[in-house]
Amino acid sequence: MPAESSERATSPLPSVDEVLRSDAGEVAIARFGRQATTAEVRRMLERLRATMPEPRPARPRSDALAAEAIHRLEEGARPSQRRVFNLTGTVLHTNLGRAVLPEEAVEAVLAAMRHPTNLEFDLSAGERGERDDHVRDLVREITGAQDCLVVNNNAAAVMLVLATLACGRETLVSRGELVEIGGSFRIPEIMKRSGTRLVEVGATNRTHLSDFAAAISAQTGLVMKVHRSNFAMEGFTAEAPGPALASLARERGLPYVEDLGSGTLVDLGRWGLPRERTVGDVLREGADLVTFSGDKLLGGPQAGFIAGRADLVRACAGNHLKRALRLDKLRLAALEATLKLYRDPDRLAERLPTLRAFVRRREEIQALAERLRPAFAQALGPDWSVSVVACASQIGSGALPQDLLPSAALAAEPSGRAKGRALLALSARLRALPVPVVGRVAEDRLLLDLRCLDDEARLAAQFAALGARS
Ligand SMILES: *Cc1c(COP(=O)(O)O)cnc(C)c1O
Repeated sequence: MPAESSERATSPLPSVDEVLRSDAGEVAIARFGRQATTAEVRRMLERLRATMPEPRPARPRSDALAAEAIHRLEEGARPSQRRVFNLTGTVLHTNLGRAVLPEEAVEAVLAAMRHPTNLEFDLSAGERGERDDHVRDLVREITGAQDCLVVNNNAAAVMLVLATLACGRETLVSRGELVEIGGSFRIPEIMKRSGTRLVEVGATNRTHLSDFAAAISAQTGLVMKVHRSNFAMEGFTAEAPGPALASLARERGLPYVEDLGSGTLVDLGRWGLPRERTVGDVLREGADLVTFSGDKLLGGPQAGFIAGRADLVRACAGNHLKRALRLDKLRLAALEATLKLYRDPDRLAERLPTLRAFVRRREEIQALAERLRPAFAQALGPDWSVSVVACASQIGSGALPQDLLPSAALAAEPSGRAKGRALLALSARLRALPVPVVGRVAEDRLLLDLRCLDDEARLAAQFAALGARS
């Protein structure tokens, strides 16, 4: 009897050693190491043994098993957090990592990763410095703030301000501004955690300056205004304006703080976008402190700013919580590089990816969609009708929720009856691509809003791969 078949009679599978000694096994060991490869091969053989059907199939070849192990090891080595195509139509998508950073920030981060830096070292004095020094003067220059500090995110900034200025005392906020942002940031909860007592002022739809005046007592520590961010109030409404609140607080000797949420540094009207009060505007209108995010409209890394009166910023910096909330050298490098771009507003829309996405014209996006439509249609085959449709993108992350940007999308509609199931299946196939594609489903169609697409060739190549698989 030939050796192969006599062995097969006793063992239907190659041994771990045989697989490792095959050509592909050696490749696997060179790439992933002996330990990981051995473990993977052992797992595969155990699984095969457990599910071996009767009668026994042909004995698998060692090389083929090793090739399968390479495939599995490759999948395991793929980063968990990886690049995706954000074709949801929401530019600042919190679940997709919000702002895409400018090249200047990418380079600054690389340099800070590779080398020691003067993170907390004053090079001119040769003494210990402060990490916030790297952005302080920039923020002062751009916003007119006396001083500023940065922490992990805006939620942390709000928390630090409350814990420093109003711990054990009352904080006044309008009932119409007790917002929840993304489920995990609720103003009342943050207040509780910061050790301040929330005093709700006014009615849900209407709050007047006189309501604030009446609510101030010896217990009051802080007057606060919160940007509504992700909702708008219509109808019979009133709010106490920031400048009036600032004057009232000053008369009573209390600090007045605005949580701006997104926090624009420049007038977006310049690019035909809706106007928002900038950080500088709010400070000029009398706010003592302003808090805002780094990765929303600002277009930088995740961070939270506290900007305004120097004595209050110093008080926050002196709170022990600051240590737990501070930024590392990488994000500070990215933040500094991003803020520097604001010195040249004329070129900001070219250099800052978020702003570039906001100002992208519908005609340009539509042309992009027309070019990609045939490849997408071909990939999906005859069961789908693919068209280019007009749609509206959102800025996202609670910034200007009312204002939609005119855009264009590839729309895929299944021709069969089980439309819901077909759309779910297609969404899953797109998410399984090498660079996962995330769109949105609306009105029995899958929409790929191309506003944020910055790599047309890559998406086209992926459409080809999608077609090849189906
Ligand atoms: C987004 C937002 C926050 C939270 O900011 P993060 O940077 O995500 O922590 C807080 N307040 C307002 C008004 C917001 O819009």
